[in-house]
Amino acid sequence: MNEFRYERAADSATATTLFAAGTHARYLGGGTNLVDLMRETIERPDLLVDVSGLDAQITLRDDGALMIGAAATNTAVAEHRLVRERYPVLARAILAGASGQIRNMATVGGNLLQRTRCLYFFDGAARCNKRSRGSGCDAVDGFNRMHAILGASPSCVATHPSDMGVALAALGAEVHVRGASGTRTIAMVDLHRLPGDTPEVETDLASGELITAIELAPLAFAAHSIYRKVRDRASYAFALVSVAAALDIDPANGTIRDVRIALGGVAHKPWRATLAEDALKGQHPTTANFARAAARELEPAVGLSLNAFKIELARRVIVATLAELSSTTEPRA
Ligand code: SF4
Repeated sequence: MNEFRYERAADSATATTLFAAGTHARYLGGGTNLVDLMRETIERPDLLVDVSGLDAQITLRDDGALMIGAAATNTAVAEHRLVRERYPVLARAILAGASGQIRNMATVGGNLLQRTRCLYFFDGAARCNKRSRGSGCDAVDGFNRMHAILGASPSCVATHPSDMGVALAALGAEVHVRGASGTRTIAMVDLHRLPGDTPEVETDLASGELITAIELAPLAFAAHSIYRKVRDRASYAFALVSVAAALDIDPANGTIRDVRIALGGVAHKPWRATLAEDALKGQHPTTANFARAAARELEPAVGLSLNAFKIELARRVIVATLAELSSTTEPRA
C-alpha cells in the first residue's frame, strides 16, 4: 500500500474542497472495496477524504420522495421501515449483496462506486484496459464466465457488481452530487457508463464530485416489488444474472399499466430493461408476453466463450421474476 494523507470531512462542501488539495484524492466511505484496491495497489491515492461521517439520514420529504443520505450504511437502508414498506426491492437487493459485516460498513455512495470484480482487473500481471489504458483485455479470451452480455466493447467486458444499484435503476432513482461548481442530480441510469473505448471512465461524475444522497420518488406499485439473484453460490457471491422488478396492473382491464425491470450481472452498469418494459405496457401479464418482452431485451446480447449461457439465463430469470410478481400483485385503482 502506498503512503497517503487522511482527512475527515465535516460536511460535503468541506469534502470537495479537501479533495481538490490532492493529486490523486479519493473519497472514503466504509472502505470495503477501496481499501482492498489500495492493498493491491490498483488504487494509489495520495489523499483519502473520509466522508463516512456525512449525511446518513433516511427521511421522507414533504412531496413523498424518500431521501437517503449517501453515508447511510447498507444495513441501515435495508432495515429501514420506509424502505421495506415502499421499496422492498431495494431492501432485498441489499440483503442479497454481501455479508452482514460488509453491509454494516459499506455506505450507499460507496456501494454505487465500487469497482468491477473482474479477476484480471485485480491481477497486476494481466492485461486490463481499465487498469492501464491500451494494454488490452485478458478477459475477452480468458475466464469470462461472470462477464457482460449487454453493452460491452472489445476494450472491456466487465460487469458492475452492485445489487443495490440494480434496484435503484428499476426504481428510477436520482443521484444527488456536489462538486466544485455546485450541486446537481443525475438519473441513476445515467450515473454509470458503458465501457466503449474508455473503460477506465466508469461514471458520469466529474473529478471531485461527491455523491451526497439518493432520491426515490413516490412509486405506489413499488410497494410490491422483488429482486431475484442467480449466482454460483447460495450467498456472498456476485450475480450471474439478477432482476429487480415491479408491476402495476390496471384493475379496469387487467393489463400492465406500468412496469419496472432492471438487470444486474449482465453489463458494465445496472441495466434498465426499457425494451422489455415498452413491450409489456398495455399487455396482459401472461407468461407468453413476459417471454416475448425478455427476448426483445436480450436481442442485442452477445455471449463470450464461457458466458453465452447467461443470455438464456437472463431470459428465464426475467420471465420467472415477472411471473412471481404477477401471481401476487393485486390490481391497483
Ligand atoms: Fe480489465 Fe475490463 Fe478486461 Fe476485466 S474486462 S480485464 S476489467 S478491461
